[in-house]
Parts: sequence; C-alpha cells; structure tokens
Amino acid sequence: MAFPASEIIRRQKGEILVQVSACGVCHTELDEIEGRTPPPAFPIILGHQAVGRVAGAGKKATKFQTGERVGVGWIFSACGRCAACLAGDENVCEEFRATGRDANGGYARFMTVPENFAYQIPDIFSDAEAAPLLCAGAIGYRSLRLTNLKDGQNLGLTGFGASAHLVLKMTRHKYPNTSVYVFARSQKEQDFARELGAVWAGNTEDEPPEKLHSIIDTTPAWKPIVEALKNLVCGGRLVINAIRKEDGDKDCLLKLNYPTHLWLEKEIKSVANVARRDICEFLRLAAEIPIKPEVQEFSLEEANKALVELKEARIRGAKVLRMD
Ligand SMILES: [Zn+2]
Ligand SMILES: [Zn+2]
Repeated sequence: MAFPASEIIRRQKGEILVQVSACGVCHTELDEIEGRTPPPAFPIILGHQAVGRVAGAGKKATKFQTGERVGVGWIFSACGRCAACLAGDENVCEEFRATGRDANGGYARFMTVPENFAYQIPDIFSDAEAAPLLCAGAIGYRSLRLTNLKDGQNLGLTGFGASAHLVLKMTRHKYPNTSVYVFARSQKEQDFARELGAVWAGNTEDEPPEKLHSIIDTTPAWKPIVEALKNLVCGGRLVINAIRKEDGDKDCLLKLNYPTHLWLEKEIKSVANVARRDICEFLRLAAEIPIKPEVQEFSLEEANKALVELKEARIRGAKVLRMD
C-alpha cells in the first residue's frame, strides 16, 4: 500500500480513504467535460464508479475495516435531514453532491468518501466487473423501478449502452414474461441486444410490432424521445435516464404531435441521480442473477482515449480504468 499517498489525502470526519483499483467511465463524464453538468469548481477528479480497498479512516468512521473492498457510486453525500433524505430519496436532496463532480472521484489511485456512501461489493465480482454496476447498473435499476412495469408487459429500451444492457439482463430475471424491444443506432448494438435476449431490435425511428407499456431512454438526444412516445400504449410511461440532453437535435421536439405522442395519458418521467438503496439493492440483485457486465479495460493514462471512444460509441459494453 502506498502509505505516503494515503497520508497526503486528508480524511474528514466520517470519511474513509479508498485505494482505488478500478473506475468505470461514464457518459456523464462527457456531460461534465462538455459543460452540460459542469463541476462547480476546478480542478476536479472525475469518476463515480470506483472500486477499491479501504486504506484508512477519519474520526468517527467505523463501518469498514482496513483492506475491505468497497464501491463508490454517483451519490457522494446528501444532507441527511430533509424530507427527501428522510424518505430514502436522497437522490433528489437539494444538497445532493455527486462523486467526481462536486467532490473528487475515482480517476485516481486514492479517494475519500463518507463511509455511509460506500458499499460492500459481493465477492462474485472482480473489481473491473463491479465498477460499471455502481452507476450504469444502479441507475438502470432505478429506471426500471420507475417504469412500474409488471411481468408480461412490454418494455422498450431506446439507446443500448452500458446501462441499457444491464437493464435488459435485470428485466429477463425480474420479469421473465416481459418482452424487451431495443432501439439502437448501430447494427452492432442491435445484434448485441438480440444476443442478450431482446425479442426485437431496430433503429430509433423503426416501429416495433407491438406497442410498449414502458420505455427507458438512455440516449443523449431528443429524437429517440419523440419516437418512443409514439410507441407507447395508452397510459404508458417513458422514463428518461439521462442527466442532460444535448442540443444538437432539439428541433425534433417540434415534431411532437399531441394526439400521436402524448394523448391517452402517456407519461414522461425523468430519473435523477441514484439513492443508496438503488446501489445496495442492485448489487444484491446483480450477484443473485448473476449479472457480469462486459468490460473493456484501459489504464488510467488512457482515460482520454476511453472517453473519446465512449463519445463515438465505438464498442459495446462498459469501459473501466485500471489503476494497477
Ligand atoms: Zn455514471
Ligand atoms: Zn437532504
């Protein structure tokens, strides 16, 4: 263990020091870099899907032993006192702080985190496998919860990145009679979706053979939303799992036609951040299924390369930086 480094980083009250071994690369990092959800102050260390081992503890941090493996997700802290926090919805707390945006994150060999916002990682996962579960998986889990889907109803996924491919696996386990329809821009993603059990995969603007009860959107664009609304059953729900939308195709919204896209009680709901219970429940579920994400590993020095590849959607699966 790099003891001197661990001494350089100051642990605050209730915080643990984590020696990071793997950290997932997420589209939200592009949103931070490109200014859609900018960090409030610079410099900041990105990264909110970190897995590592406890290397020290600040005063009043008693939950973990030195050497214990922990994960850190997007939620770094919340006030703990407001109505949202008390209801377990700390993801919408006004004082919500995000790892790697409002506090230094896991693109690093060491990081600190409040111990109440670190999670034990089930043994069946390697560090690199666990990393993408902490964001893409947990937020995917929250998105799936927010669809209110019942077993046997049709689920659509528009966009087929790291989160969606995990949602497809979760859905097949939790809702074995549900058919999943995937809308993705590349043939590769569509093939991957079918391989994982989607009954249908097509382009964003293709019409699936059946109407869908819920659709989860994980794209950075607007067109998939307009297209998705058209494919919902009456009373169906579109869940938008995107921290920000890019402005490139915003004029697509002008194509929104009330009778086609919204009438008959169709709903739109966004997913904001992630609560601790989403991460805990999802890690348990992922171990039970089990869900092991396909990962592509990069060294910490290759972080920019990983981000560029993510932006250009060059390969399937989740990208993970290795610190060792
Ligand atoms: Zn993320
Ligand atoms: Zn709060």
